[in-house]
Amino acid sequence: MYFIANWKMFGVLNSLNSIHKVVKFLKNFKKNNSLKIIYCPPNTLIRPMTKKLKDTYIDVGAQNCHEHDKFGAFTGSVNSIMLKNVGAKYVIIGHSENRQAGESDKLINLKIKSAIKSGLKVIFCIGETLQQKRKKITKQVLNKQIGFGLNKIKIKNNIILAYEPVWSIGTGVIPKKNELFETINFIKKKINKCKVLYGGSVNPKNINDLKSIVNIDGYLIGGASQDPKKFIDIIKKTYS
Ligand code: PEP
Repeated sequence: MYFIANWKMFGVLNSLNSIHKVVKFLKNFKKNNSLKIIYCPPNTLIRPMTKKLKDTYIDVGAQNCHEHDKFGAFTGSVNSIMLKNVGAKYVIIGHSENRQAGESDKLINLKIKSAIKSGLKVIFCIGETLQQKRKKITKQVLNKQIGFGLNKIKIKNNIILAYEPVWSIGTGVIPKKNELFETINFIKKKINKCKVLYGGSVNPKNINDLKSIVNIDGYLIGGASQDPKKFIDIIKKTYS
């Protein structure tokens, strides 16, 4: 099971002290081979976090990257080569907060290609808005996001898919169990080589419900991942 922490635009150097609790917990946690933890902090914390997590099983990833896989005159941007260079092994691409800010499927496709070329694994986010859900076009939306996003990309173990309904992110609302099972199934049938995670308001209170949905391969966790106690609780409950 994957537990991916998306810290979003939160965290300064002092915030790294909190991950010590997670490292300590993992040392005493009965080792489960399927457990995979990836922290995605802001770019400013990738290097120091990588150093802190040396000799642990926790990997570090970034939250986005520029689409160019060469250096260039793009003020304020960071590309996948740079992220790899400071220790990132993964990068989140296509997060709804960036799609809402104007990231198109075509741009997402270029970003994924550049990340793979640089040797990063991609956590590719897809999901429908509330309006699209109400119109009952979730499957068409996901179909389009997957089709364009992964266009001409050879999928091996280089892509992890994260289904994140936009209406569930940061709202405390999660999909109904049967709906989530069906959507994950739909995604898996479409691209059978990927692990498929769920993201959207995952917390210690709803993890018991979520873990009963058997086709989910893990979770992308935003808000709750910034609190080590909640993050540990989610992991513990998943395996209990
Ligand atoms: C996210 O940012 O990807 C996310 C799922 O956030 P939250 O867990 O806070 O809903």
